[in-house]
Amino acid sequence: MEVAVFDAHNDSLTEREDLNALTRKLNDGHWDLVRFAEGGGRWQIAAVFTPPKFSGVEALAYALHHIERVLEWVEQNRDKVRLILKRSDLQDDGRIGILLSLEGASPLMGRVEILRLFFRLGVRCLTLTWNHRNELADGVGVGEAAGGLTEAGKAVVAECEKLGIAVDVSHLSERSFWSLMQVARKPVFASHSNFRAVCDHPRNLTDEQAKAIAEKGGVVCLTFVPSFVGGDLTKFLCHYHHGVKTVGAKALGLGSDFDGCKDPILPDASSFPQLAEALRESGVSATDIRRLFNINLFHYFRQILPT
Ligand SMILES: [Zn+2]
Repeated sequence: MEVAVFDAHNDSLTEREDLNALTRKLNDGHWDLVRFAEGGGRWQIAAVFTPPKFSGVEALAYALHHIERVLEWVEQNRDKVRLILKRSDLQDDGRIGILLSLEGASPLMGRVEILRLFFRLGVRCLTLTWNHRNELADGVGVGEAAGGLTEAGKAVVAECEKLGIAVDVSHLSERSFWSLMQVARKPVFASHSNFRAVCDHPRNLTDEQAKAIAEKGGVVCLTFVPSFVGGDLTKFLCHYHHGVKTVGAKALGLGSDFDGCKDPILPDASSFPQLAEALRESGVSATDIRRLFNINLFHYFRQILPT
């Protein structure tokens, strides 16, 4: 059963040294253009992940280096791939659409004008933190000491909303999450997190968090990371069914984390149809499968992206 896929998170573009290799079908890693297309892939939110060892100008230089590699790769492979920059770019034109994301805001150094520059470079999604603290907020790894959004964090969120950049809450500490929900005026989303009620892991969302995201019109994108799933594909289905009970079928999406984790619950980007089949066998309607695979994220980004 093939369904068009809008995947909310992978790390392939930062992880892969030779980006041009991604135009061929590879035997290693989880994601390349060929396998993704075979799996029904049309839209991919691709993260530029800045490792925690970099901060300040080093983090900025690191992110710029990776964005330049991605832009060059897109330019060189214009027949196969394109960037999603505005609402109309969401339309399927036969090529794979890449929506560029910054995973962790340390490259911004807390400055709104640097966010604006990243927007000009094509960034349309900002994961506010990775697991550690940065200038905007605290990640889940900070633990009990975690606080809310900083003043810089609030200013950056407001600017994201003005520009048309999606605000991503995955990796955010609970206190920073609730502080964000107080100031966010547009819907936010979780690009790769599951449900704590099904698997009690700090990277997963509480039901209250998921409900708050859905009530604002956002989407919770379920991830294939085995430690956040707490098992295999069968356990993943439990997260989906719990999600439907908690937030409804219109607030769920997929965020694989391909090339960002070891041994995901699906082998690679060609295997999305296996998931569709498993969902169908567990009683999920074709419409709800399409909602999960693309419709909900499509609607979300239509609200967020600039015209
Ligand atoms: Zn991540």
